[in-house]
Amino acid sequence: MVITRFAPSPTGFLHIGGLRTALFSYLWAKHNGGKFILRIEDTDRSRNNEDAAKAIIEAFKWLGLSHDGEIEYQSKRTDIYKRYIRKLLDEGKAYYCYMSKDELVSLKDEQISHKERPRYDGRYRDFNGTPPRGVEPVVRIKAPTSGTITVHDGIKGDVVFNVDDILDDFIIARSDGTPTYNFVVAIDDALMGINEVIRGDDHLSNTPKQIIIYDALGLEIPNFYHVPMIHNQNGKKLSKRDGATDVMEYKKEGYLPQALLNFLVRLGWSHGDQEIFTIQEMIEMFNPKDINKSASIYNTEKLDWLNAHYIKNMSNEHLKHLLEDYDIILTSNDKTEILLDNLKERAKTLQELALQIKDILTQPAYENEKAFKKAFKGDAVDILTAFSDKLKSTPKPHLPVDFHIVMQNIVDEQGIGFGKLGQPLRMALLGKLSGPGLDSVMAVIGVDDTINRVSSAISYAAQNGYA
Ligand code: GLU
Repeated sequence: MVITRFAPSPTGFLHIGGLRTALFSYLWAKHNGGKFILRIEDTDRSRNNEDAAKAIIEAFKWLGLSHDGEIEYQSKRTDIYKRYIRKLLDEGKAYYCYMSKDELVSLKDEQISHKERPRYDGRYRDFNGTPPRGVEPVVRIKAPTSGTITVHDGIKGDVVFNVDDILDDFIIARSDGTPTYNFVVAIDDALMGINEVIRGDDHLSNTPKQIIIYDALGLEIPNFYHVPMIHNQNGKKLSKRDGATDVMEYKKEGYLPQALLNFLVRLGWSHGDQEIFTIQEMIEMFNPKDINKSASIYNTEKLDWLNAHYIKNMSNEHLKHLLEDYDIILTSNDKTEILLDNLKERAKTLQELALQIKDILTQPAYENEKAFKKAFKGDAVDILTAFSDKLKSTPKPHLPVDFHIVMQNIVDEQGIGFGKLGQPLRMALLGKLSGPGLDSVMAVIGVDDTINRVSSAISYAAQNGYA
């Protein structure tokens, strides 16, 4: 069975890069009918692990991703790690090193002054004597001293590390007995049966060390896939400003889970030239072997485009429900249908959609004087008055088409172009010169509100001498 995992260190929130590797791991597990484990790497006690786990679970819930089994916490597995350290010591594959920190520093200084790579020199590797007093030893693993270690990577191919260039007998337990990062990752992956490790390629340099631990314990080495980083448009590592932020920020800004997942799956992976994927399609088509070898570029327009696609295709009922988070409470009636049918065609985010709805449902403040003046030049007030009178005498205009007919009548009667009525009317109703079709706007706000807004705009024009 394929078992993958997502193993975040608790930094307080789930970040977009982390989410992408989580998604890849999730998809690959589901593709194979396997399991996806969530493991919180919280050996660094100084951080708030509970909150971090909660934040990750919240984000997973929002996105509809689920992990199998209980969440694993490294902080609860100390005894297991200690047992394996003991085993390596007993088998002579690891040893206590009594070198003090000061000694280590001066050794490294000396190596640097000789233009050598700073490293531990193995002085306690075969030590049989009496340990120096007062030094709490660290535990070091006996790493190979020559040759190469090859990481067989499913994306990058074979990556060969020269032992002499990268390794020494590295520490697997600190002097206080706590195990080190690479040790616990290898132990956990092995004991949890993780056989496919998909993670960021910033971890590639850790992999030889983890392989040494697998080998020392006779554990089976998983398949590795080191995913190239996400870069910004300038080819630099993605920063917070570029979007490398808390996944829940995307929710606040009004991105849909489906759009975000679709966006992320295409960052570094492709299937022909298909852009839109349902989750089911992602599961069916995803294979880590198809992940690009080079970094992928984060592109906000692409995310917006996908989000707009999913908003446009969402049912009004569902949209209505989501808009409640943005303080938009719409009742279910034909006006809501007209409103959403019109606006969802052009909104990039739910936040934007909510703003557009507010703009339509509230009396505008006519803050843009320049635009107002422009819209009210000439005989705009007379045209609007005629329009308003005509509306008052029309029996129950209700649908967009009813309002359209009234507009058409005025234009015909006065022998003017549509813009002559449209511009001041748009300004009167919305306080700006852009937005959705006026017949729909009027159908949504209704005839009374339409007449009121027109009359407010006429008074405003008179007060300010625009008419
Ligand atoms: N805990 C590591 C991180 O958050 C990931 C370890 C791994 O995937 O092997 O960067």
